Amino acid sequence: MHPPEETLLAFASGQADLPHRVMVEEHLDRCAPCCGALHEITAAGGALLAGLSPVPPPEGLWEELRRRIENAAPGRPATALPGMPLSTGARRELPADVEVRWRRTLARGARYAVLARDPFTGGVLLVGHMPPGRFFPRHRHAGREDTLVLAGGYADEWGRHDAGQYAVYPPGSQHRPLTDAGEECWVLARLERPNRLLGWRGWLERLLEGRSGARSA
Ligand SMILES: [Zn+2]
Repeated sequence: MHPPEETLLAFASGQADLPHRVMVEEHLDRCAPCCGALHEITAAGGALLAGLSPVPPPEGLWEELRRRIENAAPGRPATALPGMPLSTGARRELPADVEVRWRRTLARGARYAVLARDPFTGGVLLVGHMPPGRFFPRHRHAGREDTLVLAGGYADEWGRHDAGQYAVYPPGSQHRPLTDAGEECWVLARLERPNRLLGWRGWLERLLEGRSGARSA
């Protein structure tokens, strides 16, 4: 599974938010077809832009451009994050001062940390880590959720998700992922509705929902 076309388009045109940039960079590192698609989009977009008449730039564009230019400066070190299976491209997109604060969940052995938050879209990037052969309780996605498997894999009601695969869960969807036996599972996730997930009440609420769902399953 690959990022949706509109996400690749947003990435190619510089409109993708920080979580999407990290996740698309990581996916491109492992996916030749998407690299090819991106080259086609870039070439077509350049031709199209050349024929457009100028419009006033959106608010915040200058600040974002400056940030991107600073980030793209040659020699900018890739953010370290030791032990995390991330590509150099993805590490370069991440803020240099990421402080990983692991949080436990009510699922035994599962933990997650917030890696970044986009100031313009409010999109949040999480890294998650699960032991092998373990269920994460059933939960509902309040908003769209993008996931990218970094290592290991999992299966859920939607299918199998192996390392490098990208999936989009629509708002209101539910699942109960089971990590593959024999390998720890690492994922990146982008959430559009951070408030519900990040507050401890939201977590508790979601996990309790999951537990009652698991009991009745
Ligand atoms: Zn792809």
